[in-house]
Amino acid sequence: MSQLSKQAQLDALTKKMSACSECILRAQCSRVVPGEGNAEAEIMFIGEAPGKKEDETGKPFVGSSGRILNKMFADINIQREDIYLTNICKCRPPENRDPLPEEIIACWPWLEKQIKIINPKIIITLGKYALNYFLSTAKISEVHGKIINIDIKKVGEIKLFPLHHPAAARINKKTRALFEKDFKKISKVLKKIKSEG
Ligand code: URA
Repeated sequence: MSQLSKQAQLDALTKKMSACSECILRAQCSRVVPGEGNAEAEIMFIGEAPGKKEDETGKPFVGSSGRILNKMFADINIQREDIYLTNICKCRPPENRDPLPEEIIACWPWLEKQIKIINPKIIITLGKYALNYFLSTAKISEVHGKIINIDIKKVGEIKLFPLHHPAAARINKKTRALFEKDFKKISKVLKKIKSEG
């Protein structure tokens, strides 16, 4: 166990991550988008990869998907400063294409270390890429809004709460309704997990 605070460990990791060039994405984007939020967070949100706005600012979820998340955070009274937000891939894929398997694999050690340091009570995956990273065959249409116990190699047991991606919620009314319904369960889900120890 490190003697450093979680914040100090995360800061050191972020510094190393910002110099990463393990896959081809880094050569084509403006900067690494490591993640942002509270090092002591109980809830960690994991999306797919940075988009244009994220690439410009270095911050996760600050574009159209971020606006949807911000509205949902306000609705359930969560502050962005209370949680941690990051992505499976830390660099923007060109033209926002889907990340390739080798890019996801190259980026995994960073996410693994972030999860280890923060040690959240719950991981909320946003969309199928983040879900399928942890559960390769799960279908978002079947598992969204459900608590799933997973065992991450080198990290340990953790609860997953998969949600649809806000970008999918933006373009499809039915998905939006499901996304909002699931989102509103978050406080209850966290309480339940904490009460079970
Ligand atoms: N979509 C994502 O999955 N992550 C971001 O940071 C922004 C948009």
